[in-house]
Amino acid sequence: MISVEEAKNLIFHSVKPLSPIYVGIQEARGQVLAQRVFSPIDYPPFDQSAMDGYAVLHSDIHRANTIEIIGEAPAGIPFRGKISEGQCVRIFTGAKIPPGADTVIIQERVSSEKEKIVSDGLPLAKGANIRRKGSQIKKGDVALHEGIVINTGAVGFLAGLGISSISVFPRPKVSILVTGNELQKPGKELADGQIYESNSFALKAALESMEIVAHRVSNIGDDEEVTKKELALAMQNSDVVLVSGGISVGKYDFVGKSLEELEVENIFYKIAQKPGKPMFFGKKDNCLVFALPGNPASALSCFYEYVMPALKIVQGFTGEFPKRISLPLACNYDKKAGLSLFLKGKIIEGKVQVLEGQESSNIGAFALANCLIYLPADKESVEKGEMVEVHLIYNS
Ligand code: AMP
Ligand code: MG
Repeated sequence: MISVEEAKNLIFHSVKPLSPIYVGIQEARGQVLAQRVFSPIDYPPFDQSAMDGYAVLHSDIHRANTIEIIGEAPAGIPFRGKISEGQCVRIFTGAKIPPGADTVIIQERVSSEKEKIVSDGLPLAKGANIRRKGSQIKKGDVALHEGIVINTGAVGFLAGLGISSISVFPRPKVSILVTGNELQKPGKELADGQIYESNSFALKAALESMEIVAHRVSNIGDDEEVTKKELALAMQNSDVVLVSGGISVGKYDFVGKSLEELEVENIFYKIAQKPGKPMFFGKKDNCLVFALPGNPASALSCFYEYVMPALKIVQGFTGEFPKRISLPLACNYDKKAGLSLFLKGKIIEGKVQVLEGQESSNIGAFALANCLIYLPADKESVEKGEMVEVHLIYNS
């Protein structure tokens, strides 16, 4: 049996990001950029008017004299002539500045009649209301650094530079394999001795909160041959396999034996923690295998503490997962030394409460939880007001 810290370290050191793939920018939101993106163009690509007004020579408006309008430049249709002294072009936001002009005076600052304008004579800086070519970014400059998470702004930024696809770390293909003879699907009648199968639903929902869709969910009975066959199949077709149940040492627990026979490298089995002691983590070729205990609160707790961080690494994220903060405990809590605890908790007004119903088989507390409270193995009783480590979980 290893400690929580050792288990987390083993995951951290044995999980690597998946090979990058090219995706369209529209699909890239939420994914980690695997390349440095250089701007293929100057942005803006030409000197551009920032306002509706008149493209002029600065020296003309300064003198507040009459300036002749020699044409129009709407956005997208450049004026083809050249502006000389005493001349201007009516221009609109986004339009290309005509050759010769060096300043845009906004339409509110001139009096115009038919083919002439007179400026108000007030001072205006040379170059005013012009967005210079390449002023936002120059061709060849770094637009985005590798490792950033593509957010909605980045999608727009990339599109604005004319980039239609980028290299990102892909979302993993995750399969879920649920074991248990006693399990019935929700919505159906329970036979004597049956319970409803909830782990695949909670695990799928937890994956979806990370924007990962489980590509395969199989429910199997406690049967050695079937377990082995289904595990082999899942590993062949996935980057990550999550197994629920059957990992203890009971007569009908066949997951451990199947993993061994399929030569899945055992990176760890059993963590000194509650809930979720009999958890397995291993690797077969490039596939990661997490065998989670069947008790529903154990399975979900292990997901947040071990599977989720691994899925983050696989997708190229760096940082701390789950995110940790320190908060005062809202009540006294008695604990024996030996096992680390992950308690379903709720943060209310800057304090963290231990929720009722912490049993491994009781997933009800998770329905109210917004965090897990981590009490390390060596810790004994915790007093009200004492600072504890709180792990924020994706529980929405
Ligand atoms: P196991 O890890 O297979 O020994 O299961 C431990 C406990 O969790 C047993 O009481 C099972 O009935 C229960 N259990 C296992 N799998 C599920 C599941 N998918 N949904 C709900 N309960 C489960
Ligand atoms: Mg079982």
